[in-house]
Amino acid sequence: MLSTRVAVGYRRYHAERNGFGYRKHLPVGRHFTYKSNMTLIAELLRGFSQLIYPNMCWACHTVLGPDDGLFCGDCLPQLTIDLFPTCPRCSSSVGPYVVLNKGCTQCTGQTFGFDGAFLAGPYDGLLREVILRMKAWSGEDLTEALATVWADAMAERLKPLTADCVIPIPLHWRRRWWRGFNQSEILSLALAKKLDVPCLLKALQRTRHTASQTAQSGATGRQENVHKAFAATRSLDLAGKTVLLVDDVLTTGATTSEAAKALRVHKPKAIYAVVVAH
Ligand SMILES: [Zn+2]
Ligand SMILES: [Zn+2]
Repeated sequence: MLSTRVAVGYRRYHAERNGFGYRKHLPVGRHFTYKSNMTLIAELLRGFSQLIYPNMCWACHTVLGPDDGLFCGDCLPQLTIDLFPTCPRCSSSVGPYVVLNKGCTQCTGQTFGFDGAFLAGPYDGLLREVILRMKAWSGEDLTEALATVWADAMAERLKPLTADCVIPIPLHWRRRWWRGFNQSEILSLALAKKLDVPCLLKALQRTRHTASQTAQSGATGRQENVHKAFAATRSLDLAGKTVLLVDDVLTTGATTSEAAKALRVHKPKAIYAVVVAH
């Protein structure tokens, strides 16, 4: 069998996502669908590349064997293993002997809409580079590759939470249209599949377009920028349930916190932020 990065990444993931692989996880009566914006031309180009490119690491493009995974042995640990202890409240990297009863120095005194945070690693080095690449217009395939290994790594740590569902942070339709996909949706779908729980793609909506958080100065500016920027779907049934709220990067936690606050109207038991990096 000809195994290429396309076969391993794009086609396998889309076959599952657009077939029945994920649909069985959706709640009864709500058939949310994910519509890819890939054009026919892009599909044809990728099909052509399958014929000429061997299987390569999605991060460093090292040529891999036909039965190897999505990333090489050097890159995979850098993307999925966190060498640093992290604050359970905000997921900031902390020193080995820090007392975290009330959070770390980054989050003490702050209030969040979520009850705790989990991440794959610090927003640095190769992980940062891959996240920046996947947020580019053409980053959908890379996002799917990272989502696969990220979900594998996170699932073991998240299983003790016995979560009931996974919810992505939505993009405003303008940004979604510009990028062509929502990276949080792709991450959520992969995680929900791995944990065998529903992925509620329409649970949250952006009520208004917000400026980029990276353009805001300081935590206060970020909080004000996303204040009441989310609304939860009225028909959600989250009462007493544990929710995993997924985004790619958690910086000050303002965006994820605001989204979690919107979900609180449905009285969930707990909401945990689950991200790729902090
Ligand atoms: Zn590599
Ligand atoms: Zn903290």
